[in-house]
Amino acid sequence: MTIIQDLGIYNRNHLWIKREDLIPFSFGGNKARKAQLFFKEIEKGDCDCVVTYGSGSSNHCRVVANECCRRNMKCYIISPAEAAEVTFNRQMMDLFGAEITIVPVEVVHDTIESKLKELKDKGHHPYFIEGGGHGNLGTEAYVQCYQEIKEQEADLGVFFDYIFFASGTGTTQAGLVCGQFLAGDNRKIVGISIARKNPRGRDIVLDSINSYLGEKSDDDKIRELTCFIDDYTSGYGQSDLNVQQTIDFVLKNYGIPLDSTYTGKAFWGMSQVMKSIHDKNILFIHTGGTPLFFDELRKRL
Ligand SMILES: *Cc1c(COP(=O)(O)O)cnc(C)c1O
Repeated sequence: MTIIQDLGIYNRNHLWIKREDLIPFSFGGNKARKAQLFFKEIEKGDCDCVVTYGSGSSNHCRVVANECCRRNMKCYIISPAEAAEVTFNRQMMDLFGAEITIVPVEVVHDTIESKLKELKDKGHHPYFIEGGGHGNLGTEAYVQCYQEIKEQEADLGVFFDYIFFASGTGTTQAGLVCGQFLAGDNRKIVGISIARKNPRGRDIVLDSINSYLGEKSDDDKIRELTCFIDDYTSGYGQSDLNVQQTIDFVLKNYGIPLDSTYTGKAFWGMSQVMKSIHDKNILFIHTGGTPLFFDELRKRL
């Protein structure tokens, strides 16, 4: 369970923050929460190595490589050449002994297929994890997080009218929305897109929700519950001055690090949306990415 911290009044609302960045493994974050479930499944089976993919700055790849390392399992990462800069995450993947194959983005898919085939031909049993921990297990991790939030609300004696966070591959959002759907709660869950535009961005979240809920899904209700805002993205990894100022503000006032790819964008987007909301309880989910904070700090030197 990660703590929910009271940040007091912000933009005429009461703001709280759930510190997923403090999950106590490999710098935490939503990828650490998702990875816990993937590795629980890996431990039940007979797989002897893991294959996944992501960019050089991927939090997911860092966490998966770390989980593999501590189990003495080989980790194979396929990474697009277009986003292969050496970051702290990338340095840690190397430290954990991951084998990183860098290829042009258009052949990432085929390279994954050939890597899996090559490993199987050699007698290995690879476990494949989609980029970002996408898939029903990743969604399940955030259904559990939603239930955790409900328990914490009961303890704190508060009800969050809004929940904001950075939405990327959509599994975090899908899990939260599924949690809300299953609990029948009335509140607004707002994903701030960090890259994708609508309608595609929202459709991918809806696909994840339907895939997780299966026959239980109710298309009209799910559409009503899924709010994916794409006004605050300038493209994956791109950020602007507003985001930089937000990051500085949150660090100076709350002592909490954000980054410009995910959490900084989401916090900035939330602050804009909040201008038309008053006197509500608002929860921001800090989805992690602390190594990215340090990459950016280093660039400012
Ligand atoms: C991956 C990531 C996200 C996006 O999560 P999704 O489940 O892919 O939508 C948000 N914040 C951080 C820090 C991340 O690493």
